[in-house]
Amino acid sequence: MPSRLTVLSGPSGVGKGTVVAALRELVPHVWVSVSATTRRPRPGERDGVHYRFVDPAVFDELIADDALLEWAEFAGNRYGTPRSPALKHLEAGDPTLLEIELEGARQVRRTMPDARFVFLAPPSVDELVQRLSGRGTESSDALAARLVRAEIEMAAADEFDHVVVNHDVDQAAREIADLLG
Ligand code: 5GP
Repeated sequence: MPSRLTVLSGPSGVGKGTVVAALRELVPHVWVSVSATTRRPRPGERDGVHYRFVDPAVFDELIADDALLEWAEFAGNRYGTPRSPALKHLEAGDPTLLEIELEGARQVRRTMPDARFVFLAPPSVDELVQRLSGRGTESSDALAARLVRAEIEMAAADEFDHVVVNHDVDQAAREIADLLG
């Protein structure tokens, strides 16, 4: 039986990646989509594992071929969900998760309204700013763009079906695991 799609969003720096890693431990059969992005890899990120890292021209082709379920520009780079692997896993009945930003989540809401939309929120805005600034992975321009975007994303939490506050990674992962179907 096809399973339902879960879309996890939340501002950059909230800890989506860490919570998803904990979720994978709890629910080993969850399938997490690997996005295509034009962003450069950060140290330790591997092509095909964390992202599929592509040139802008390749991303243009993915859009032209309608190969993306959704895509958005975020802080100067583009990110998108490859359509066919996600649909294949949903068809196979695997709990399927997309970890994407707000614009992409809104697109999925329009095209797949049955999906479950989960917002991961920080315990406080101050904590988010500290985490984002302390991560040290971004240039100051990119950091400024992410902070602006974080404010916009925080204001949209009400659009989501569920809000999970990331006080504690394992607790947040358990709450999301309970929502997967
Ligand atoms: P980062 O550069 O920090 O890895 O990701 C930046 C933002 O892009 C995060 O909010 C992340 O959730 C989002 N993102 C990652 N993959 C996708 C995707 O395929 N589509 C969209 N719309 N956002 C994505």
